[in-house]
Amino acid sequence: MVIPCSGIGKVHGLIGREATYRVTDGLAYDKTATLCLALLVKGDPEAVEAVQRHRCITIDGCAKACAQKNVEMSGGRVAKAIQVAEAFRNFRGARPGTATALTEDGWKISEAIAQSVHCEAAELLGVEGTVR
Ligand code: SF4
Repeated sequence: MVIPCSGIGKVHGLIGREATYRVTDGLAYDKTATLCLALLVKGDPEAVEAVQRHRCITIDGCAKACAQKNVEMSGGRVAKAIQVAEAFRNFRGARPGTATALTEDGWKISEAIAQSVHCEAAELLGVEGTVR
């Protein structure tokens, strides 16, 4: 499971969500899935079961780590916790865009995160035989 934070109103959140879709709809569409973080927050049984049954990679916009914390509070297993803000360190001076639209820089950061998540998922696949 690849689970981004909500991050509404911040470019960091948009980068995390786009990175998630790049993995779950593209790079590893047949091996990964995502879910709405709000379902976990409200204790939806299917969402809670999903994070408890599968290894999770969380993508958070900032150090508040809402996705990571909510997966953990739901009894889920966080195999890798990624923070978009940290990814910015490799893109000094980047102008990523806004909360609603990424620039070329923003898409580059999102793609780098997606590649990292894809590698992590592939590693989990090798270790566990499945990431779903
Ligand atoms: S981790 Fe940061 S950006 Fe993401 S939802 Fe929480 S406060 Fe917002």
